[in-house]
Amino acid sequence: MTSTSPISTSPLTEPAGGARRYDEFLPLEEDDVFLADAVSEAELPALLAALALVNADPGLLVDEVTPPIPPMDSTIAPQGGLSAEAQQHARRLAVGALARFRDRGSVPVGEPGPELLATIMRFLTKGAGEEYLPLLRHELGLPHDYGAPTWRKDAIAPTVPFTVAIIGAGISGMAAAYRLQQAGVEHIVFEKNAEVGGTWWENIYPGCRLDTPNFAYSYSFAQKPDWPQQFSRQQQIEDYLCDVATGFGLRPRIRFGTEVTEARYDDHDQMWTLTTRTGDGTSSRHRVNAVVTAVGQLNLPNIPDIPGRDSFGGRWFHSSRWDPTVDLTGLRVAVVGTGASAYQIAPSIADHVAHLSVFQRNAPWMLPTPGYHRDIPPGMQWLLRHVPYYGRWYRFWQFWLAAEGRLPFVEADPEWTRDDSTSANNAELRRQLLEHLRAQVGDRPDLLEKMTPRYPPGAKRMTRDNGVWAATLKMPHVDLVTDGIDAVTPEGIRTSDGTLHEVDLIVYATGFRASDYLEPIVVTGREGQDLHEFWNGDARAHLGVTVTGFPNLFMLMGPNTGVVVNGSSLFMAECAAEYTVECIGELLRSRKKVMEPSRQAMDEFCAEVDRGNERRAWGVATVSTWYRNRYGRASQVWPFSLQEYYRRTREPDLAALRLSGELEGAR
Ligand code: NAP
Repeated sequence: MTSTSPISTSPLTEPAGGARRYDEFLPLEEDDVFLADAVSEAELPALLAALALVNADPGLLVDEVTPPIPPMDSTIAPQGGLSAEAQQHARRLAVGALARFRDRGSVPVGEPGPELLATIMRFLTKGAGEEYLPLLRHELGLPHDYGAPTWRKDAIAPTVPFTVAIIGAGISGMAAAYRLQQAGVEHIVFEKNAEVGGTWWENIYPGCRLDTPNFAYSYSFAQKPDWPQQFSRQQQIEDYLCDVATGFGLRPRIRFGTEVTEARYDDHDQMWTLTTRTGDGTSSRHRVNAVVTAVGQLNLPNIPDIPGRDSFGGRWFHSSRWDPTVDLTGLRVAVVGTGASAYQIAPSIADHVAHLSVFQRNAPWMLPTPGYHRDIPPGMQWLLRHVPYYGRWYRFWQFWLAAEGRLPFVEADPEWTRDDSTSANNAELRRQLLEHLRAQVGDRPDLLEKMTPRYPPGAKRMTRDNGVWAATLKMPHVDLVTDGIDAVTPEGIRTSDGTLHEVDLIVYATGFRASDYLEPIVVTGREGQDLHEFWNGDARAHLGVTVTGFPNLFMLMGPNTGVVVNGSSLFMAECAAEYTVECIGELLRSRKKVMEPSRQAMDEFCAEVDRGNERRAWGVATVSTWYRNRYGRASQVWPFSLQEYYRRTREPDLAALRLSGELEGAR
């Protein structure tokens, strides 16, 4: 069957209440004593910012409570580094401002004007980093949604037929769908799973949760103020994504249980044909003008080809294919790997199993995060529900802290000769992280030896540490095995020292085939070119979005757009989605049918990114990591600041893009 008709007759406009879905606040009626209690648990810089806005009172933001520019350190200072005295002052000011807001009936003073917003932004950033303000404003989303297209199709090309297919309804596909909906561009989303969420729908292993703060890891257009934790659990994120899909009207255009197996470009009419397959084996074809891939970078399980793997007599599965029906009670369990997934799984199951063996090849660097599992205190939660835009300012604050993040710590100095670090800053980070490790396992020299990474910090992803990993490895029934795995036998895992570790269940927390980007979809571009043959295991794209020879193919979370130590992948996906929608706007305005980057522009971009990655710890260290492909090229990650990607993705790069063909439809 070939389908070209829209899948939904629901209007391509924002649903009522959609954009401001999470901006409903409760009236503030409590007395000053209650307010003081709540404020004692608040993050103060963002609270003062929110109160200055709702009371239109920049006088609140006095020098004494202005947060200092955060020092470069492995941990972020609480309360923006305000002294105890400054915090006390800030709390007094906040309680007074809250009381004034309450006494005025909990009604903000008018719409926030640009001058007041700018003053508040300067307060939080101490006037530094002016170049970051556009990005920060986008993430704050006040007074409006800055990521929304400034055009609508019915205004610029009302009679031109144009349909977009999005592959995947995870975080990036949903961002693209919403932006296309805002622009009024017809689209259809194919999702192989039964629900939205992508990685957050698939990864249900015990302990699965965020390792990026949640106020920053959420959509700029759907800022939810009532997260129960800073680093929420899988279910809460999945619930949020389901709620966004419903509340923002995305569901009518999503075809669930539908996997795209092939995307083929037709040179003759410059259209794409997608082949899809549903669970019952039905195959369909769909003709569209443009394809947006939103399949994520980390979705193909890497299951190591260990000799004897399939001879194992017990159960085994990959971390991302966790079987929730398995009762762990009394089982002897092996967890292979010590990356971010294993790091969350092992502490969560240790109490339930009879024995746990954790197989480590390279120790992870652990980033001190004392509050990693903590709930947001009740006082702060209450304030987030009662003070308009407190959550937004808190998000702004988190983006400011992450704007550069720990990038300076992971610089690679070409003159640096040690191989346990890559620069003076990196050596300093190493020192701080080792201190953190020693504080936890200094009493166990055997563990200290095994848990000390031999490679520079930042060469691989660091894990968030609140002490539970070391506490787990110290348990009497838990072993950290560092001898290499030789084979899997029917009884368990045999290591290079000849030991057979007998187990009932093996969990392969061995990561993903990130560099097999877009597999197993067959993608055929101009002149019959196969995308995977073209890349040959070395995925490349201009801005991580467009590829030479593949007109109107737009990728989200594409090559070189993963972030390592600054910000979140969700931010990068939103930027790429907005860029894609602006590219489509350019086609509609110019009545051109397709666009693709010139080979020169794509190569120059990749060379620039390569040079950037070579100045980062992950670019020069030789330790294994999903950031690099089989050629050793860091094809997965972005080496520069968030601001740099934001700046480059605001509008189509017309110097790089070649537009051709004519769109149908009268002007
Ligand atoms: P990963 O970081 O790639 O870690 C895989 C682990 O398996 C590593 O310890 C690796 O050892 C080990 N391994 C791989 N092949 C092996 C083999 N043949 N024998 C023994 N060990 C082997 O994978 P992941 O933990 O699933 O995490 C992947 C990424 O997903 C993360 O970097 C992060 O971006 C994301 N993630 C995020 C969260 C979150 O909290 N938001 C949670 C989970 C994952 P080596 O170190 O020696 O290669």
